[in-house]
Amino acid sequence: MNETLIQGAYIVAGLLFILALAGLSKHETAVMGNKYGIVGMTIALAATLWLATKTAGFDALLIIAIAMAIGAAIGITLARKVEMTGMPELIAMLHSFVGIAAVLVGWNSSYETAAYPAIHDVEVFVGVFIGAVTFTGSIVAYLKLSAKMKSAPLVLPARHAINLGIIVVFVVMTIVYVLVPHEQMFLRQLLLGIMTVLALFLGWHLVASIGGGDMPVVVSMLNSYSGWAAAAAGFLLNNDLLIITGALVGSSGAYLSYIMCRAMNRSFISVIAGGFGSDGNVVGEAKDYGEHRETSAVEVADSLKNAHDVIITPGYGMATAQAQYAVADLTAKLRARGVNVRFGIHPVAGRLPGHMNVLLAEAKVPYDIVLEMDEINDDMPSTDVVLVIGANDTVNPAAQDDPSSPIAGMPVLEVWKAAEVVVFKRSMNTGYAGVQNPLFFKDNSAMLFGDAKERVEDIVKAL
Ligand code: NDP
Repeated sequence: MNETLIQGAYIVAGLLFILALAGLSKHETAVMGNKYGIVGMTIALAATLWLATKTAGFDALLIIAIAMAIGAAIGITLARKVEMTGMPELIAMLHSFVGIAAVLVGWNSSYETAAYPAIHDVEVFVGVFIGAVTFTGSIVAYLKLSAKMKSAPLVLPARHAINLGIIVVFVVMTIVYVLVPHEQMFLRQLLLGIMTVLALFLGWHLVASIGGGDMPVVVSMLNSYSGWAAAAAGFLLNNDLLIITGALVGSSGAYLSYIMCRAMNRSFISVIAGGFGSDGNVVGEAKDYGEHRETSAVEVADSLKNAHDVIITPGYGMATAQAQYAVADLTAKLRARGVNVRFGIHPVAGRLPGHMNVLLAEAKVPYDIVLEMDEINDDMPSTDVVLVIGANDTVNPAAQDDPSSPIAGMPVLEVWKAAEVVVFKRSMNTGYAGVQNPLFFKDNSAMLFGDAKERVEDIVKAL
């Protein structure tokens, strides 16, 4: 009876997780989606604690309670401290926890004897492999996103052969592991140990060889890997809910990666193979694009007063400057004057899928004027002024014009087609991909230097 209740609770929690994912796919339903997720996780935790008490007694409950208290203390501290700009690296770090958890569960299970040893052995090997790749891959992603490691790709000779070689070795070692009898524990642990080290290396290498501009796909890919690592741990622990949840995270992460690949015009297979999209070339720095023109907040305010159609394209700089409230203020002021203000959001703007949408929603910018790149690009030529607020790579015409650019082929917001473009940034520095932006030197572009929040506030005052 108890068993049935626990399985029932797991099914309800699984359904709530599906509703949570469905809710999170739209602004309007995101809050509800989060609530479904919270309720689902509470039910899942309660059922799991009950199961642990039933099977392993109150001692187990005590150990779990201590582990949960430590985890919750770390989680709450990090969540309270983290700035919105630090979210991407925090998420990468959290993926690494899932990865190491799967490795530990796998190693622990390798000492157990199972009813179907061959299947169990494969589960152990696959679980440890995915977990180890996720662990080191996520740590490298964390280091790259927090600028503790250079974002330029590491280009080892024969990098694809290295990746493929490790996967082939993994498959062969899995077969050998299944064939080695359980009594030969030392040999089995040696095989598992070598495979773990290879998988740790593979995770590091896959992400280290990705160029800066292509990191969004890696983040969503690691999100997916962490889901599969959790699902693998679910198989090892015989926990249906962990399998369901892991599969949900794994498949939604894979779908997100597919969306990101489409947004970046990259092939899905080359992402999984690692080191895609860039051969290490960094071009554009040496090119002479001519002179850039500077403007002032007062001049921009004058242009805006005379404009009918304005598009704002925010990027990572809006997040670092925390300029979203000032931008929302400016939008409200312009709309009150009858100006048609809309936002153009590039799918990889910022450092997190949906980063800009979250910031604009936080500042209460109406959803109906926040449009995707594909929905707004055709309107650029009929736009009077485009305000590029802290965006760089996502508005770089080199993606279309320069086939040797590391961001070549990536669809971009075609802001230069508008009558006038104002770029808000602090210097002529490059964006995340490390390539110079010819937009800044076009005749219809002007640079408004300084912190984006302060400059937008200056414009609001001047209006
Ligand atoms: P970029 O990172 O290309 O450029 C941001 C610009 O903002 C910089 O050039 C910087 O210039 C400027 N900036 C920084 N701080 C401020 C400030 N306080 N005030 C004003 N300007 C500021 O941004 P995009 O959003 O256009 O592109 C995102 C990039 O990040 C892409 O390359 C994408 O591939 C990558 N990426 C995206 C992820 C995602 O999931 N969305 C994940 C990982 C990477 P300056 O220093 O001169 O001020």
